[in-house]
Amino acid sequence: MLSYQHIYHAGNLADVQKHALLAWMLAYLTRKDKPLSYIETHAGRGVYELQAPEALKTGEAAAGISRVLENHGLGEDHPLSRAIDACRERFGETSYPGSPLVAAALLREMDSLHFAELHPQEYAALRQALRPWHAKVHQQDGFELALSLAPPTPRRGLMLIDPSFEIKSDYARIPGIIGKLHRKWNVGVIALWYPILTDGAHQKMLSALETQALPGALRHEVRFPPVRAGHRMVGSGMFVVNAPFGAEEEAARISALFERLNQD
Ligand code: SAM
Repeated sequence: MLSYQHIYHAGNLADVQKHALLAWMLAYLTRKDKPLSYIETHAGRGVYELQAPEALKTGEAAAGISRVLENHGLGEDHPLSRAIDACRERFGETSYPGSPLVAAALLREMDSLHFAELHPQEYAALRQALRPWHAKVHQQDGFELALSLAPPTPRRGLMLIDPSFEIKSDYARIPGIIGKLHRKWNVGVIALWYPILTDGAHQKMLSALETQALPGALRHEVRFPPVRAGHRMVGSGMFVVNAPFGAEEEAARISALFERLNQD
């Protein structure tokens, strides 16, 4: 039974880190006039209303993307700013793009888009949100979909793995899945998001990923205060295999943004 709903957390500081790096990588990959595949294993509903009661209840978007935009923290030219503008034009001034809409805003007609989402309501909402695009939306386990598509056609491309980690065994099995995906799709950029937790539950997963010495590996982490006293998540991380050229510099810019936010 899936209980996680991203609407409570959409636009929080973890989304800012994840979506900023994702958007930058997609903008980089689309500089070349060659088609690519984009695959997401845990897509969510695609678009979020930041004035919805769920979002207002936690205040995570207010402390996250809303604060970043108010302080012009991203810059108008950042690909995530462009994706947010495109989302707001279509879905309203207080909407926020989930990763599928970030990708849809930045990718081109020639690219292939695949999304997996298991939750029936989130799946239905995602299909609706993606109607203007030629995207394939699957109500299927994301890891299963990823393994069945790899290597995708076209072979150039990026996969985002963004689990809610509701199933604790995900931490143990993800390094093996990423290793297998890389063996099947050695040119693919594979990006995993993970939470930084006070109890260090993510640490073993990271050690197992790093032990595999996957090519072009980038580990980027930012820290932020817990959303509520006692909340376990105190930061956000991305582990990227075959990270595109320049991703490290973009990661450093994102780190600088978080340092400024933490100093305020
Ligand atoms: N990637 C989204 C974004 O950044 O906007 C957020 C995704 S949210 C963290 C995780 C989503 O994965 C939830 O909507 C949940 O219903 C879905 N989910 C959980 N287990 C799944 C599975 N095994 N396969 C596919 N989707 C799953």
